[in-house]
Amino acid sequence: MTSSNVNFSDAVLAWFDHAGRKHLPWQQNVTPYRVWVSEIMLQQTQVSTALPYFQRFMASFPTLADLASASIDDVLHHWTGLGYYARGRNLHKAALLACERHDGQLPASLDELVALPGIGRSTAGAILSLGFGQRAVILDGNVKRVLARYHALAGDPAKAAVATQFWSLADALTPSQRCGDYTQAMMDLGATLCTRTKPACERCPVQDGCIAYAQGEPARYPEKQRKQPVPRREVTLAIHLHDDQAWMAQRPSSGIWGGLWSFPEWPSDTPLPTQAESLPEFVHVFSHFRLNIKPVIIQATSSLAVSEAAGRWVTLSDLPALGFPAPIYSLLQRLGARLEASS
Ligand code: SF4
Repeated sequence: MTSSNVNFSDAVLAWFDHAGRKHLPWQQNVTPYRVWVSEIMLQQTQVSTALPYFQRFMASFPTLADLASASIDDVLHHWTGLGYYARGRNLHKAALLACERHDGQLPASLDELVALPGIGRSTAGAILSLGFGQRAVILDGNVKRVLARYHALAGDPAKAAVATQFWSLADALTPSQRCGDYTQAMMDLGATLCTRTKPACERCPVQDGCIAYAQGEPARYPEKQRKQPVPRREVTLAIHLHDDQAWMAQRPSSGIWGGLWSFPEWPSDTPLPTQAESLPEFVHVFSHFRLNIKPVIIQATSSLAVSEAAGRWVTLSDLPALGFPAPIYSLLQRLGARLEASS
């Protein structure tokens, strides 16, 4: 390791000692399992949003074995509202595989970790350094941003050749001592000082060597991915109501809202029954498209009126512990409140 790399990690660690985050729930009673769950929740999600989800998840599934023995419905129920549900499905799958392959523990090696679903190289690095106390390298969005600016790296880090360059820089800067603290420090630096817009360079411990700062335009880095126009899609959801119950179907395990419970889609080429009541439309934004959702209520005269095979009646006043997509969950709550108001 060169002396400038040592200076970098020393400065980052000294900053961490007085300004880093040390009281997050996954930093207490640290286990590789708790680190793993927190890392997965924190992908695409802010710390403040993930906190209550993490607490509830740990209360229900305190160990990897508890997670593996839970039903996927129960796991997805704990994910309701957090989005990117493949993360929840993969956690469950990986827990089952860890029971099969590793005696109910997470393995302490990079190769074995990345062989589990949903664990990429950076997440594996975080589990190894924070959970197992090993020297391991991470390169999440926060770290990429700090490195891109510190070295004024041109190029889109989503491209393979640029990513290789980032990984080798991240590796060169990672110290062999206090690697867990360094990992946390880099995440904190990116999340609290070297933010996407308006980085707080005046308080940054590595400002001295930062090329983007010296150039006067740090927010230029990392290079932005060119935004594609977001396609729009439309779906009509048929809410079959019978007394205070609604008919719900479980979505296929792959694709959007995979494994979650929703209302059946009404085929676009089939006219709606005349008594169908349209509810206000709303838009839900996914990472790659916007979905315009048109809910319609269809009063079912009896439970036999619905012929969907993979479904069940759900009582609106007492929603069962199933995984629902967030917009469907709030629709269910609105329907329950409406029924109560009209009774
Ligand atoms: S000086 Fe500014 S741009 Fe450079 S690493 Fe620090 S916060 Fe980021």
